[in-house]
Amino acid sequence: MLIPKKILARFSYTIWLTLVIFIVFAIVFGFYIHAEKQIDRANELRLQSIMLSDELRQSSDDLTRMVRAYVVTGNPIYKDHFLEILDIRDGKRGRPVDYQNVYWDLVLSDNVRPRPNGEAIPLLDLMRQANFTDSEFSKLSQAKASSDELTNAEFSAMALIESTNPTTDQNRREAIDLVFSESYYQSKAKIMRPISEIYQMMNQRTLEKVVAAENTAILIRVILIVFGLLLIFALWHASSALHSILGCSVNRLQEYISHLGSGNFSESIYKQGENNILGWLSEMQIKLAEIETERNKALAELREYQNHLEKLVEERTSALVIAKEAAEEANIAKNTFIASMNHEFRTPLNAIIGFSGVLKSEMVGPLNTKQKDQLERIHKAGGHLLKIATEVLDVSQIESGNHEVFVEMFSLAELIGEVVKGSEEVAASKGISIKLQMQRDVQLQSDRRRLYQCLDNYLNNAVKFSENSGIIVVKVEESDKQVNLSVTDNGIGIAKEDQLKIFEPFERLESHLKVKAGGTGLGLYLTRKITEELLDGSVWIESAVGEGSTFGLTIPKIITKKIDKE
Ligand code: ADP
Repeated sequence: MLIPKKILARFSYTIWLTLVIFIVFAIVFGFYIHAEKQIDRANELRLQSIMLSDELRQSSDDLTRMVRAYVVTGNPIYKDHFLEILDIRDGKRGRPVDYQNVYWDLVLSDNVRPRPNGEAIPLLDLMRQANFTDSEFSKLSQAKASSDELTNAEFSAMALIESTNPTTDQNRREAIDLVFSESYYQSKAKIMRPISEIYQMMNQRTLEKVVAAENTAILIRVILIVFGLLLIFALWHASSALHSILGCSVNRLQEYISHLGSGNFSESIYKQGENNILGWLSEMQIKLAEIETERNKALAELREYQNHLEKLVEERTSALVIAKEAAEEANIAKNTFIASMNHEFRTPLNAIIGFSGVLKSEMVGPLNTKQKDQLERIHKAGGHLLKIATEVLDVSQIESGNHEVFVEMFSLAELIGEVVKGSEEVAASKGISIKLQMQRDVQLQSDRRRLYQCLDNYLNNAVKFSENSGIIVVKVEESDKQVNLSVTDNGIGIAKEDQLKIFEPFERLESHLKVKAGGTGLGLYLTRKITEELLDGSVWIESAVGEGSTFGLTIPKIITKKIDKE
């Protein structure tokens, strides 16, 4: 299922269109903000220009007021004010803050100023900064020339006052005439006329600028509204294209999806067959509902199987318990049988060995060679049988767990001495010498009898499976907590694949020494079992055919493992 290409193209086209319109809208909006700022700036400039023109007029009036007060009263403070007004206007003194506001009317006889002085800057410079035009400046120079003329008259009037001390009435009258004369008024009018014209020119010019800025802003506003409407239209278009792709509103779609997400597949969407997302959602819902039904069915079956399985496990467990109990009973019976058999077997066997030994020694009378030979065979066979009986009993005891561990403190050197002594005679008869490698004696806390059994078995085998003449080395290596005991011979050796096998019960390898050496095939099995289960250690072997073998065992110096004693 795919969305028809036409719908997709319409959607992506409207998205692009919306984006472009939005960008243009944003740019126009930027221009609009700028235009609004331009209006503010034009208004500001206008206000500033009005205030500067006003200052020019005001300062001229202030000068007149000060000179008249001075000639009438003769108070020097008025002359100082007169000079200060001139200096401020020409930028020779700091301009009081907010000078355009009422200032000199607030300065009284105590000469306290309403506001502090700011930066010194000529009035003409301020007018230049406010963009006064050249024609306005030419009017200004006219006003300035007339003002200078008037100032000269004013200085003459003040000079008359100061020419005598005290001032004579004559001089005062002349001075007053000068600043109230017809020519004074005419000079004043000569200053004020260009100022009035400047004011009108400036007023006209700044007003035009404000109006122009306002017109630009109105134009941009109209463009902005047009693009705003276009943007709304494009958004509406994109939304309707999206609607035809989705098949419903985004909110409704979200509702459906959240229903599906929460695993509610039952509420129908009623839009099957339509080639839009809602239609597909509806089909998906139906399929999910089918899968859900199948899953529930499978779950029910699984639960049934599980119950069945649990029942089977239960049955099997109880069968196993019964079998285990039976095996335990059988084991007890087997051990009882072996123990009693052993006893029954051992008594006559000991008698055979004992009596054949006595007969062999000719204590009860002389024997001929044939009799001696046969008695020797009986004696040997008896010994072999006794060994088998002893080993079988041992195996049965260890396998049934019915064994005892006698832990005691003993000297390893002494134990090895005894073991070596036991094999020395047979070894010597084969021309084999036994050597001991041991740095120092070690005291062990272990089962002496069982360790003896293991070492004895290793040494017996080494003698048995060595050719006539050779060396056997019994080696003891000691670490912190363990001892390594090994017996190395240079006998027939054992192939790699047989090395694990020989530690299993009744395993005897084929060799030309097999018959001569005799044996049960239980010795190594017993050694492994005793070492692992009673002495808490492990056995190991290194051997090569024709070169010899090393049989070893590693045991702890002190048995720490808890061993059940039954
Ligand atoms: P047995 O010695 O009574 O046959 P063991 O369990 O002691 O039984 O030994 C199993 C077999 O392992 C022996 O029959 C022999 O084939 C092989 N074997 C044991 N020790 C040696 C050895 N030192 N050199 C060569 N083969 C050995």
